[in-house]
Amino acid sequence: MSPKVPGAQSRGDYSAVQVAVRVRPLLPKELLHAHESCITVDPELHRITLGHDRHFYCDHLFEETCCQEDVYSASVQPLVDAFFQGFNATVFAYGQTGSGKTYTIGEANIWNHSKSRRRYFKLLDENDLTDFSVRVSYLEVYKEEFKDLLEVETASKDILIREDKGNIVLCGVKECEVEGLDEVLSLLESGNTARHTGATQMNPNSSRSHTIFTVYMDQRRGGSRLYSSASSMGPQVLSSKFHFVDLAGSERILRTGNTGERLKESIQINSGLLALGNVIGALADPKRKGSHVPYRDSKITRILKDSLGGNSKTLMIACISPSSSDFDESLNTLNYATRAR
Ligand code: ADP
Ligand code: MG
Repeated sequence: MSPKVPGAQSRGDYSAVQVAVRVRPLLPKELLHAHESCITVDPELHRITLGHDRHFYCDHLFEETCCQEDVYSASVQPLVDAFFQGFNATVFAYGQTGSGKTYTIGEANIWNHSKSRRRYFKLLDENDLTDFSVRVSYLEVYKEEFKDLLEVETASKDILIREDKGNIVLCGVKECEVEGLDEVLSLLESGNTARHTGATQMNPNSSRSHTIFTVYMDQRRGGSRLYSSASSMGPQVLSSKFHFVDLAGSERILRTGNTGERLKESIQINSGLLALGNVIGALADPKRKGSHVPYRDSKITRILKDSLGGNSKTLMIACISPSSSDFDESLNTLNYATRAR
C-alpha cells in the first residue's frame, strides 16, 4: 500500500476502483460487555484512524451514524447511473464476519433502502417495456463450487463460465425476468431462503461463501445517441450488468483455530479473496497498466472479469467493526481495501 497524503482522496473518475469504508456501530452485546471503539474518523479528510496512529484514506467514509441511504446516495448511486448508461458495475462488501457486509449490501437491503432503485423501476414501468428488459440471477460460490440460489437443483458442474468477445457469460445459471421492484424483492427472498435451508448439506456457515446477485439489463432505444453509429444496422441492444457481491468473511484462519476440513475450506475461501485482492491491486496500480491481471485464479474473479476495472465501475465497501477486540481484523480489512486505491 502506498502512503496516501491528505488531499489525495479525491482522485476523480479515473480510479479503477472506488473504496468506501463503513464502520458499523457497536452492537448491543458489545456494549453489554463494555467493548470500546478503537476507531476515529476525520470525515473531511476521508481519513479513518485505527488506534492512535494507523491512518487510512478512502474515497467514501461512512461513520457509525450513517444510514443505508447515506451509503447509497454517496457511493452506489453513481454506479447505478452508469449501469443505466450501459456500463457494467460491481459493488462488493469485504470484511470479517459480523462487520456488516450483509447488512450493507446483502439480502434485500439494497433494494429496500434505495430510493434510486424505486425511481428507476418506476422509470421502467412508465416506459414501454419492450424497450427494456431486466433479468436477475443469484449465485453462491462456496469452496469454488456454485450453487444457483434461484434454481437449487442445478449441479455446480452444469454451470460454466464462458468468455464471448470480452463478455463473461454464465451458462446454466437461471435468469429470471423481472418487471418491477416487488419481483426483485421476492426473488431475493426466495434465493436467501434457498441459501439458508441448503446450509446443512453444503455450506454449514453462510459467512464462508460468496454470493453474487446480478441485475442484467438490455435496452433498445432506437433514437439514442448511443446508437447513432449503428443506426443504419437496425436496432441495437445495449446490455449492461450490475453485480452485488457479498464476500465470504475475511477473518484469518489462525484466529478461528481451524484444522482439517475447515482449514482446507478456509484456504479455498481465502484464495478467492486473495485472487480478488490481486486483481484489484493490479487494476489500481497505474504502473501495471496493460500487464497481466490474474483473473483466472478463482471463480469469483473469472465471473467478475468484465465488470471490474476497464470501462466498468467498481466499488469496494470495506466493512469494519469499531470494537477494539476486532482491531487486528479491522487492520487487515483496511490494508486490503486501501490496496485498491
Ligand atoms: P456480516 O454479513 O459481515 O457477517 P452482518 O451484516 O450480518 O455482518 O452484521 C452483523 C450484525 O451487525 C447484524 O446483527 C447486523 O444487523 C448488525 N449491523 C451491521 N451493520 C450495521 C449498521 N450499520 N447499523 C446497525 N447494525 C448493523
Ligand atoms: Mg453476512
